[in-house]
Amino acid sequence: MISIKTQQEIEIMRKAGRITANARKLAGDMVKPGVTTREIDEAVHDYILSQGATPSFLGYGGFPGSACISVNDVVIHGIPGELVIQEGDIVSVDVGAYWHGFHGDCAATFAAGTIDEESRKLIRVTRESFFAGIQFARRGCRVSDISHAVQEYVEANGFSVVRDFVGHGVGEKLHEEPEVPNFGKPGRGPRLMPGMVIAVEPMVNAGTFEVRVMADRWTTRTADGRRAAHYENTLLITEGEPEILTVTEGPTNEYIQV
Ligand code: MG
Repeated sequence: MISIKTQQEIEIMRKAGRITANARKLAGDMVKPGVTTREIDEAVHDYILSQGATPSFLGYGGFPGSACISVNDVVIHGIPGELVIQEGDIVSVDVGAYWHGFHGDCAATFAAGTIDEESRKLIRVTRESFFAGIQFARRGCRVSDISHAVQEYVEANGFSVVRDFVGHGVGEKLHEEPEVPNFGKPGRGPRLMPGMVIAVEPMVNAGTFEVRVMADRWTTRTADGRRAAHYENTLLITEGEPEILTVTEGPTNEYIQV
């Protein structure tokens, strides 16, 4: 059952989304050589609490941080800790905030100092694949129309999409139906209807799509040790263009920046 949000619930989700997007921006601004992933996590934690929200990820399935912070070949679910970010690293930050009964969920990959050309392209293509995908986040399209568009865009640019983890519905729970894969044939899966809220989140690897989950049961690395990037927003299906809910306040569209 895919929930259809009411106007009132959508208003709450806009606010939850804004807090989440602000937390992502705050984290991204902190990505610099010499900073530990724990410092970023603590800043995200404190910011979310300061907004009267709670970090969606903290304690979720036992996850020990407020943000997933994934460096270089870590695709997703990196646990914040003593790791010191180095010049040239790429750092993916995934955050969620729960406000008045609803979640927001978003992610992006940020550069620490100057990064190599391939990493730059990887971050760009990952972000662009999200926008290629959400051209199909419209009334009447099927979920896998998004999936297919993401995969096509990524593979046309010489990278691969992760199969083992997927996007998802968002609402009163962080992960709801439907699953939103980043691969597959078009024309499959549920039909999208106004009032549905989904997180579209391409996870893109420079090399093989295969990943390995480490012994800590969270940290997910590329199988070949090459780098990965992640980009995610929570969005509302409307009668027209999808509305991205994880946007920051102010005149700039921070969600499209990295
Ligand atoms: Mg997500």
